[in-house]
Amino acid sequence: MEVVPTLADEQSLEAIQNFQGKYPKQLWYLFLSEMWERFAFYGMRGMLTIFMVGQLHLTDKAANLQYGATQAFVYTLAFIGGLFADKILGFRKSIFWGGALMIVGSFILAFSPASLFYIGISFTIVGTGFFKPNISTMVGSLYKQGDPRRDAGFGLFYSGINIGALLGGVLCVYIGKHYSWNLAFGLAGIVMSISLLIFIFTKRTLGPIGLSPLRDKFAPSKITMYDIMVYGGSLLAIPLILILVSNSEYTDYFMYTVGPLTLIYIIYESFKYSAVERQKLLAAMIFIIFSIFFWAFFEQAGGSLSLFAEHNLTDKVMGMRIDPNVVNNSSNSVFVILLSPLVGLLWLWLSKRKLEPNTVVKFGLGFLFVSLSFYVYYYTRFFADANGVTSLNIFTFAYLVSTIGELCLSPIGLSIMTTLSPKPLHGVMMGMWFLASAYGQYAAGLLGAAMSTEKVNATLLDKLNAYTEGYKNLALYALIAGVLLIAISPLVRKLMHEVH
Ligand code: GLN
Repeated sequence: MEVVPTLADEQSLEAIQNFQGKYPKQLWYLFLSEMWERFAFYGMRGMLTIFMVGQLHLTDKAANLQYGATQAFVYTLAFIGGLFADKILGFRKSIFWGGALMIVGSFILAFSPASLFYIGISFTIVGTGFFKPNISTMVGSLYKQGDPRRDAGFGLFYSGINIGALLGGVLCVYIGKHYSWNLAFGLAGIVMSISLLIFIFTKRTLGPIGLSPLRDKFAPSKITMYDIMVYGGSLLAIPLILILVSNSEYTDYFMYTVGPLTLIYIIYESFKYSAVERQKLLAAMIFIIFSIFFWAFFEQAGGSLSLFAEHNLTDKVMGMRIDPNVVNNSSNSVFVILLSPLVGLLWLWLSKRKLEPNTVVKFGLGFLFVSLSFYVYYYTRFFADANGVTSLNIFTFAYLVSTIGELCLSPIGLSIMTTLSPKPLHGVMMGMWFLASAYGQYAAGLLGAAMSTEKVNATLLDKLNAYTEGYKNLALYALIAGVLLIAISPLVRKLMHEVH
C-alpha cells in the first residue's frame, strides 16, 4: 500500500537531493538491490546457451538464436516496464512486481529446468522488464538537474551491477555445470529474494521518489484498479512471451514492429514539449540508436563468445587453471569493478586540465575500444594448436579492452537518459535505452548465428576459423561506427544544449 505523499515528503526530496559528500545514502540501497538482481539475471544468462546445447540438445546455431531472442525480449520489456512505471505504477511498485515475477521464474526453473525451461524464462523476462529500467531511473531521481555528482553515482551503481554479474556468472554456471541445474536456478531465486527484501526494507528512505504518478489525480481505489490491470496484463503476457521465445522466427516479427512503434510514440510525446526539449530528446535518440550497434558487438559475450570459450580455449589464464566459460562470464565484470573507479578518476583528471572528452566523443571511444577488442579475438587464431584450441590469456586481454569501451559508453548512457529527457518521460527514455540493448542483443544473436559454421560434424578448427573470421568483420564495423560518431559529435552537442 503506497503512502499518499505529504509536504514532508516533498521536503525530503529536497533533503535527499541536497545530500552531502560524493554519494547519497539511498544510492547504496539501490546499489545492493540491483547487485543481487544482476546476480540472478547474469547467473541465468550465463547458463542459457550451455544449458540449451548440453541439456536441451539444441545446435549451436539454434542456441545462439534463442539466446538472442531471450535477451531481446528481456530488454524490450524494459521499455514497457518503463512506460507503465511512468504512467501508472510508479517506480517502486514496478520494481516490487518485477522482482516478484523474477523470483517465481527462478523457482519454476529450479523445480524442473528442462521441462519448464521456457515458462520459467518467460516469467524472468517479464519480471526483469519491470525491475531493471526502473531501478536505474530511481538512481537518476536522487540527483538535481545539473548535479555534477550524477555520473559518479551511475559509475558506482554500474560497479554494483557488475559485482552481482560476477558472482552470479561464476557461481550459477559452476554449480549448474558441476553439481545440479536445479540448484543453480534455485540460487538465482534466493538471491533475487534478497534483492527484493533489501528494496522493501529501505524504500521508506526514498521520500516521494518512485511513488505512483497517479496519486494526485485519482482516489486510491481507482489507482489500485489500474495497478491490478497492469499486474493482470503482465501475467497474461507471459504465455505470449513463451510462444515468442520458444519460436525464434516470431522474434523477428516482434522486433520489426516494436521498434518503429516505440519511435512513433516518442515522437508523439515529444510534441508536448518545447523545441529545446525536443532537440535534447533527439540527441538522446542518437545515443540510443548508436548503442544498438554497440551492444550487437559487445553482447557476443553471452552467445558466440560463450560457445567459443567452451570449445576453443585452453583452461589456463596467467598460469592458473580456470574453466574458460567461467572466465568468459566473469572477466568483463572483474574488469568493470577494477577499472570503473580508474576511468572515473581519469575523466576527473582530464576535466581539471580542460581535456575531458564530451559525452559524444566518449561514446565514439567506446566503439573504438570494442573494435580493438574484436581484433584481439581475431588474433587468437594465430595462437591456436593443430586442434583449434587457443590462448585463454589473449582472450581475457580482449575482454579488458572491450570493458574499457563499455565504461566509455554504458554508465554514461544511463546517466544522460535522465538529463536529456523531461521528468514525465524518464521511465520511458530509460526503457528506450534498454530497448536499444534489446535490438543489440537480437542483432548479436543473428551475428553469432551467422558466424557459426554450417558444417555438420565441424571440427574445433572449423569452429575457430568461423568465429574468428566473424570477429574480424565486427572489428571493422565497430571502427566505422566510432569514427562516424566522433565526426558528427559537434552536431549532436548542439542538440544537447547545456548538457555535456
Ligand atoms: N551490463 C549492464 C547491465 O547489466 C548493461 C546491460 C545493457 O544495457 N545491455 O546493466
